Amino acid sequence: MKTKHIIGISGGKDSAALAIHLARKDGDWRYFRDFLAESNCAVAAREIEEARRAPNIEHFFTDTGKELPEVYEYLEILEKFLGKPVLRLSPFLSGNDANAAPFDHFLWAEHGGLLPSRRQRWCTYKMKIKPMNAFVSDAPTINYVGIRADEASRSKLSSLKNVTAVYPFVRDGLVRDDIVALLEETTGLPDYYRWRSRSGCYFCFFQRKSEWLGLRRNHPDLFAKARRYEEETFDPETGRMYTWMDKMSLAELDRQAGTSPSDEAIIATDGPASWQESLLAVNLAEDDPHDHACAVCSL
Ligand code: SF4
Repeated sequence: MKTKHIIGISGGKDSAALAIHLARKDGDWRYFRDFLAESNCAVAAREIEEARRAPNIEHFFTDTGKELPEVYEYLEILEKFLGKPVLRLSPFLSGNDANAAPFDHFLWAEHGGLLPSRRQRWCTYKMKIKPMNAFVSDAPTINYVGIRADEASRSKLSSLKNVTAVYPFVRDGLVRDDIVALLEETTGLPDYYRWRSRSGCYFCFFQRKSEWLGLRRNHPDLFAKARRYEEETFDPETGRMYTWMDKMSLAELDRQAGTSPSDEAIIATDGPASWQESLLAVNLAEDDPHDHACAVCSL
């Protein structure tokens, strides 16, 4: 069986930059042959040598149906730049559920209304890992992963035995500044980096307080929906309610944001570009190296 070559596009900057970095090497089959040989992928290296062509890399995006609008917009920009589609993978195996929002289906039909959290992270497995594994199936696969040369961890993103993770940025010595520069000169950065440090679902529990405030300001409708999820989990018998953030509900954050000058300062002004630039700098600087958020959602 011929080797499959894939990149998972999360909507974050690193996977997008990786897709662009490798697209730029499309005419250079020797790059892929040598890189894969160095990465102990002898069969894939041999296939490239025989074909004397760079591999046809497939790009995919695992869609929870709850990503930020900026992510969907950026995917279209990236597709135009690459001149090829980013396949949208659904977690549903049958067409029957295709019209349902995946997250809501799993939340209510399979998890009894138990919202995902850092400790109960069923969302990543059901909506990111499983669709990716189904996409790969049993084909020998090279998974190009956007871990940078300045990052300590080496996430594989898949534990399937037939999937081998390789790290072009590490091999080519590209660090965060290189990735940002590469995006600035091609597609631009995804727009949400002005107020949020990573891609993923709009209600992701890995967000910091300032990011929730950014959601409130930039997408009040989505903030309200995230708040509604919390309210729907309220159990009148026990008085318990799940909250996305530790020890604070979104209703409480909403109240605080309306009265606290320090919170409001982050979100209240459209002001000069400088506040956006400084947030951008913070968001780009704080995404590593010890970020324990979900790599498959945000890399
Ligand atoms: S982005 Fe967050 S909420 Fe969405 S699937 Fe990933 S970990 Fe879960």
